[in-house]
Amino acid sequence: MIALHNGQCGLCSHFGEEKGSSDQVLVSIHTSKTAPPELLDNCGHPKHSGLHLKVTPMSGCDGFTPAGQA
Ligand code: SF4
Repeated sequence: MIALHNGQCGLCSHFGEEKGSSDQVLVSIHTSKTAPPELLDNCGHPKHSGLHLKVTPMSGCDGFTPAGQA
């Protein structure tokens, strides 16, 4: 597991967004602020979703939106 910080995909509301905020894996990541580094999920940001961008919890971009504040 790796520790996550604000600005990284794992703590972004767009990470795995299509699963919904009640997804147990996402809830666990948001609560613990840690994630398995090999995890890959879709970025649901409007500028990326059409490209089917896959990101890891450690990735990041300027579209970061803190989970829970979407
Ligand atoms: S790529 Fe950017 S918008 Fe997408 S999940 Fe990561 S930080 Fe959020």
